[in-house]
Amino acid sequence: MSTTNKKVVIIGGGITGITAAYYLQKEIDKKGLPIDFTLIEATHRLGGKIQTVNRGGFTIERGPDSFLARKLSMSKLIKEVGLDHQLVHNSTGKSYVLVKDALHRIPEGAVMGIPTQISPFVTTGLFSPVGKLRAAADFIIPRTKVEGDQALGTFFRRRLGDEVVENLIEPLLSGIYAGDIDRLSLKSTFPQFLHAEQKHRSLIVGMKKQKALQPKQTGEQKKKGMFLTLTTGLQSLVETIEDQLSPQSVLKGTRVEHIQKSAEGYTLTLNNGKTMQADSVIVTSPHQAAQSMLSHYEMFEPFRDMPSTSVATIAMAFPEEAIKQDIDGTGFVVSRNSDYTITACTWTHRKWPHTTPKGKVLLRCYVGKAGDEAIVDQSDDEIMRVVLDDLNKIMNIDTTPEFYIVTRWKEAMPQYTVGHQERLEVLNQQLESELAGLYLAGSSYEGLGLPDCIDQGEEAVKKVLKYLK
Ligand code: FAD
Repeated sequence: MSTTNKKVVIIGGGITGITAAYYLQKEIDKKGLPIDFTLIEATHRLGGKIQTVNRGGFTIERGPDSFLARKLSMSKLIKEVGLDHQLVHNSTGKSYVLVKDALHRIPEGAVMGIPTQISPFVTTGLFSPVGKLRAAADFIIPRTKVEGDQALGTFFRRRLGDEVVENLIEPLLSGIYAGDIDRLSLKSTFPQFLHAEQKHRSLIVGMKKQKALQPKQTGEQKKKGMFLTLTTGLQSLVETIEDQLSPQSVLKGTRVEHIQKSAEGYTLTLNNGKTMQADSVIVTSPHQAAQSMLSHYEMFEPFRDMPSTSVATIAMAFPEEAIKQDIDGTGFVVSRNSDYTITACTWTHRKWPHTTPKGKVLLRCYVGKAGDEAIVDQSDDEIMRVVLDDLNKIMNIDTTPEFYIVTRWKEAMPQYTVGHQERLEVLNQQLESELAGLYLAGSSYEGLGLPDCIDQGEEAVKKVLKYLK
């Protein structure tokens, strides 16, 4: 490591941090840049929320299990590191929503719960006749008067009524954000719905038109799902990237505790008492950790109160015979209007057949939602008791699994509440003027999907290189 070289530190070894490290190293090597970098990760492994377990022939994801195929940055990264031969689309199939005690098929043509085909909505038992009529009012209700941000719930309830929101839209959206639809920001989560409404007045018409603009799918394409994963598990991407990073650039098992700007750049204090100097810093840790490292700068105050939801995933391996009522489909989400603790269940053996050996079944349930997270702190045995009780009522499963894996994700789902984008813009402006060369990236800021994190990691590298020029 040269002492005349510029020094970059990337904090956090989740997907955002390893992406930043990968693209920074690539630029340094390609252009012979006089830059050294260190990726600092608090735990003893890279990957953050990406964690795969291989057990008894099963491939089990403890955290994320796939990514949206239309967001291209993740497939691009996978191809760059030579893993594209392992990419696989999900198997398509019916998916369901559990309302009260019945599983209802999600009506065909629903985009995040918004109807784009009329007849499946008219015939579904998911909504009452009054609920359907109320949703049809979307055709005549005037556009939203846009004044700043608003909650997703406010927007959808006004357009489609409470019943469609509570029985379909809320459970689907909660599956992504584990959030409270009446607090989540429309602008920071699904701005495309507002655009569709503003352009076409009716949200249903807007989504229909948007769908019609998409290229028609062939029979073969229709069979392919919207999601991709790696047959070797998502952790294989992490391991492949780690193998391609120079080992002296990665420092694991070390936590950054404090960042201080100085005349020379930045001084980072580590939990082992040592310090490290940097000319530029990319902070990819969750906002709680970022805020703590930078708590002496007032600009981070608004992010101190940014909520995050705790959830747990429960993967369960069964023999085929245990599932007496194997429903044809890939899983279900649960409406809040139901007396169940699980919030979703993926029939992983059907959605991702490569994960499960022949003759076996793999189910993955979620528990924990905004405002109702106490279950996550229960013991594994108690969580399993509650989950199996729910599954017994819904799917008639009354045997214990061959094995199960409970994974708790404490305060792991950042909530982009109303005004998030404005708060972020103010913070970024203050960073630029007071802490030039320090950049924030990752799931707390501009999207929590894996491809969004990859985009942010890549973008942060561009900013660093521009700053150091
Ligand atoms: P993280 O993965 O949280 O990484 C941050 C890293 O920073 C961690 O390794 C942490 O140890 C480290 N760190 C923290 N503090 C410090 C410090 N002081 N010093 C040094 N290091 C520090 N997204 C999808 O696209 N598809 C899915 O299917 C999906 N499913 C999900 C399921 C679950 C249960 C969860 C929790 C999330 C899911 N997500 C999914 C979201 C996605 O997984 C995350 O948004 C993404 O992985 C976050 O990556 P990150 O790099 O921003 O943060």
